[in-house]
Amino acid sequence: MIRETATVCERCVLTTSVPGVSLDEEGVCNVCREYEANRSTYDAYFKTEDDLAALFRRTHSPEAPYDVLLMYSGGKDSTYVLNRLVDMGQRILAVTFDNDYVPKGCFDNIRGVCEDAGVDSLILSLNRATMDRVFARSLEQDSQVCTGCFRALTARGTEVAIEKGIPIVMTGLSRGQIFDTKVHQLLAAGKTDIDEIDRWLRAFRRRYHEQKDEIAELINDRAAADLAAFERVHFIDFFRYCKVTKEDIVALIKERNPAWRKPENVGGCSSNCMINDVGIKVHQETKGYHNYAVPAAWDVRFGHETREEVLEELETDLDERRIHGILTQLKINYHVKDGAV
Ligand SMILES: [Zn+2]
Repeated sequence: MIRETATVCERCVLTTSVPGVSLDEEGVCNVCREYEANRSTYDAYFKTEDDLAALFRRTHSPEAPYDVLLMYSGGKDSTYVLNRLVDMGQRILAVTFDNDYVPKGCFDNIRGVCEDAGVDSLILSLNRATMDRVFARSLEQDSQVCTGCFRALTARGTEVAIEKGIPIVMTGLSRGQIFDTKVHQLLAAGKTDIDEIDRWLRAFRRRYHEQKDEIAELINDRAAADLAAFERVHFIDFFRYCKVTKEDIVALIKERNPAWRKPENVGGCSSNCMINDVGIKVHQETKGYHNYAVPAAWDVRFGHETREEVLEELETDLDERRIHGILTQLKINYHVKDGAV
C-alpha cells in the first residue's frame, strides 16, 4: 500500500506523505541524511548494559519490595525485557495496564511468562466506558489511540511505584520509539549534552503528568500529586541500554517462553492490543501516513529491524470490519475510505 501510493526512502521507510520529509536525487530522505551527518552525536544518547548494571547498583534499596516496576504489556519487546531483567538479578513487579482491548491470548502470555520467570504480576484497569472516552478523545486530538492509553498506563505505573517505594519504572519502548517521542526533537534543536537532555526529559515528564486536560481527568492522573515522591522515581527505557535486533528478541522468547503466541485480532504492528489498528486506520485517513512510520524509520536506521521487515508490517492489511465496529462503539463519525462509519 505504502509503495503504491507514495515514494519511499531508499534507506528507511519514510515517504513524502510524512510532513517535512523530502527525498534527494539518490532517493534518500532528509532525516536519513540528518542522521548520517550527526551519527556520533545522536548515537551518544544510547548507553550500555554495563551502564544499566551500574544504575541498578546505585538505585538498589534492600527495603524496597522490588527493584524494578516493569510496564509489562505482554508483547514481544517487554517480554524480552522481563527475561533480561531476571538474568540481571532484578526483583521485578510486572505491571500490565488492561485497556479493555487486550485479547485473552495476551493474558495467557502474561500469566505464562510471569510464572516461568517467577515474577509477580499486577494487572490494572479502568472501566470500558472510561477507556472508550479516552480512546475517542485521543483519536480526535492526535488521530491515534496510543497517546491516551500511554498516559493512563504511565500514570498508573508511576502511582504504584510511588506507593510501594519501587525505585525504577521501566519501559520496553524500542530505540526508535524512544528517539521519536523524546530525544530527536531535543537533538535536532541543538541540545546535545546528554545530562541536559535527561534533565529536559524529566521536566517534560513532570509537566506531562501535571497537565490538567480531559484525559487527565478521565484517568485521574495522580502520578505527580506528590512531587517529591515523583522526583525520586527513576524512569528508565531498557532499550536505551541494550542494543538488540528484533530477531534477537524473537529468538530469546522462543527459547525462554515457548508457549508465548501472538494473539489473534491484534493486526500487524502489535502483539497485545486489539484497538491498535483503529488508530492506524484513523491516522492514515486523516494524516495520510502510518503512525508507526516515523518511530519505525528510526528503528531501521539504528539497525533494530530491516527496511523490508518494517515495510511488511506497515503494509499489513487492516481488518476494516472490525475497525468500523470499534469506531461505531466509540461513537466516532469518521468517514473512512472503504465504507463510511
Ligand atoms: Zn530515510
